[in-house]
Amino acid sequence: MSVRDRILAAGGRPNVMKLTRREIGRLAATGVVSQLASAMAQDNDRKIGYCPVGLGRVSDNFIRAAKDSRHARITALVSGHRDKAEKIAAEYGVPAKNIYSYDNYDAIADNKDIDAVYIGLPNSMHAAYTIRAAKAGKHVLCEKPMANTVADCEAMIDACSKAGKKLMLGYRCQYEPVVNLRAIELIRSGKLGKIQTIDTGSGFNIRPGEWRLDGKLAGGGPLMDMGIYALNGCRYLTGEEPVEVKGVSSVIDKDGRFGEVEESLMWTMKFPSGIVANCATSYGANLGTFFRVYGTKGMLLGEPAWGYEGLRLVARIQGEPPLDEPNPERHPAQFVREADHFAECIMQNNPPKTPGEEGLRDIKLITEIYRSCGRKV
Ligand code: NAD
Repeated sequence: MSVRDRILAAGGRPNVMKLTRREIGRLAATGVVSQLASAMAQDNDRKIGYCPVGLGRVSDNFIRAAKDSRHARITALVSGHRDKAEKIAAEYGVPAKNIYSYDNYDAIADNKDIDAVYIGLPNSMHAAYTIRAAKAGKHVLCEKPMANTVADCEAMIDACSKAGKKLMLGYRCQYEPVVNLRAIELIRSGKLGKIQTIDTGSGFNIRPGEWRLDGKLAGGGPLMDMGIYALNGCRYLTGEEPVEVKGVSSVIDKDGRFGEVEESLMWTMKFPSGIVANCATSYGANLGTFFRVYGTKGMLLGEPAWGYEGLRLVARIQGEPPLDEPNPERHPAQFVREADHFAECIMQNNPPKTPGEEGLRDIKLITEIYRSCGRKV
């Protein structure tokens, strides 16, 4: 499949398109096809009203993505800064009555323009704002990491389930076709032989003053922020859940940034098949984002693997021509795909590919990694 086809397929049509000719013939006789066609046409035109909560950097990506999406539009905003919200509202045609503060957030319950909220707040706030949204009868697309504790993740899942609302985690890389989905496909095809080891890294040199350095708001250091891509990546690349994890963390720079969170952390994971993964994350050095997967018959390199754009997959597999494929999509394509996927799940009443349970699994593992580093959690 060409890169173009892969990209198209990843933003593809609903399952209903997969009917056989014979099935279509049978349905046509009953008139279901015309109903189906009109329902599909309505779905094609329909847009889910999203309300971003917190108007920082990630929400800016999401809001811009809505412009390019088929099924998402920004219909409301939640912010502590009214002036900022008004500026964005004017640009995106959001009526002033649909701007909320954190104090009157619960009033979204009465606003039919809002189908779902998008939580782009510091990590410690994800749980409360997800639970309040569920109680207000709204679906929730929440940014990673899901929350700071396992108990908070469970409470979020429980609240959404009780309210009959969907909960999805913003694991955008699980929707990226050219590097991440392709790597999964190559591994599952057996072309790499038996996977033996994975080597991953993700990190950057953080500026002082970020909430990411505040232990209470962030819940941890680079592992909660960048390391989670490596952790989640190892899980979807192998298709297995780790049975052993072990980490070591350190602080080298005594410049005041790392009084509450780790600076660098390395951890290993062992999977049921015997695959071992070696993962690194840092707020002290630019590790970029990469994975290297080694099997008995070849290797894969994704680098950058988890950035917003410019991703690239290299493969060296015995008996196969060498592969070196960039993803030509421009940012915010991954956010567009994520927004459309959740919108389709809502319209078609399907479970999202990355539900709350997926976020919970990562937080359980992160908790174990921190514990093995000697942190009380
Ligand atoms: P940010 O600092 O740019 O934005 C945070 C927003 O929360 C701001 O609008 C800020 O005003 C608001 N806020 C409310 N209370 C706050 C408080 N007490 N302290 C600080 N800010 C407060 O952060 P961000 O980079 O947008 O990250 C937000 C979330 O999104 C985090 O959970 C992060 O892990 C996640 N994220 C995900 C991706 C991704 O690619 N999926 C990328 C970046 C961030």
